[in-house]
Amino acid sequence: MRAMSLYNAVIAEPLGMARLQGLATRYNMSTVEKRPIEIRDSNNSGVAGTLNVTLFAPNDRTVRALKTLGLFWALAVGSIPIIIAHWVLVPGFLIAGPIMAVRRYRMTESVDGAEGTCPACKGAIKVSMETTDTLPKWTYCPACNAPIQLVPSEKPSS
Ligand SMILES: [Zn+2]
Repeated sequence: MRAMSLYNAVIAEPLGMARLQGLATRYNMSTVEKRPIEIRDSNNSGVAGTLNVTLFAPNDRTVRALKTLGLFWALAVGSIPIIIAHWVLVPGFLIAGPIMAVRRYRMTESVDGAEGTCPACKGAIKVSMETTDTLPKWTYCPACNAPIQLVPSEKPSS
C-alpha cells in the first residue's frame, strides 16, 4: 500500500492524466469545437446558435502544409511539358509551394459553418461558411433568405 501511494504521488500524478491529455492535444488529430454564437436578424433580436470550428493539431498542420507543398511542386513538374508557358508556370509553382505551405501551417483553425434557429422564420438552419470567416458576419438565412448576423456569444462588455 505504502509503495503504491508513493508511486502515485511521485510517478502517476505528475505524469498522469494531465500530461497524457497534453500529449493527446499535441499529437492527435484535429478536434471540432462548438462555440456558442448568437444569430440576429435586422431587428437585432438574437437566437442562440452554434459555430462549428475545426482546430488543427500541430502535426495535422504539418501534414496539411506538406500536402500543399507536394501539390504545388507536382503542378510545377506537370507544367514542364507545356511549351512556352512552362517558363512562367514551373518557377511560379516552385515558389508558390513553400509560400502556400507556410500559410497553411499558420492556419490553426477552420470554420466549418454555423447552425441554429433563424430569428426570422424560426426554422432550423445550417449556414455554410468560408473556412477563414470571422465573426461577426452578415449572411442570409438559407431557408427564408432573411439577412442574419452571426455574432460571438461572449460579448466584450463595453
Ligand atoms: Zn429564416
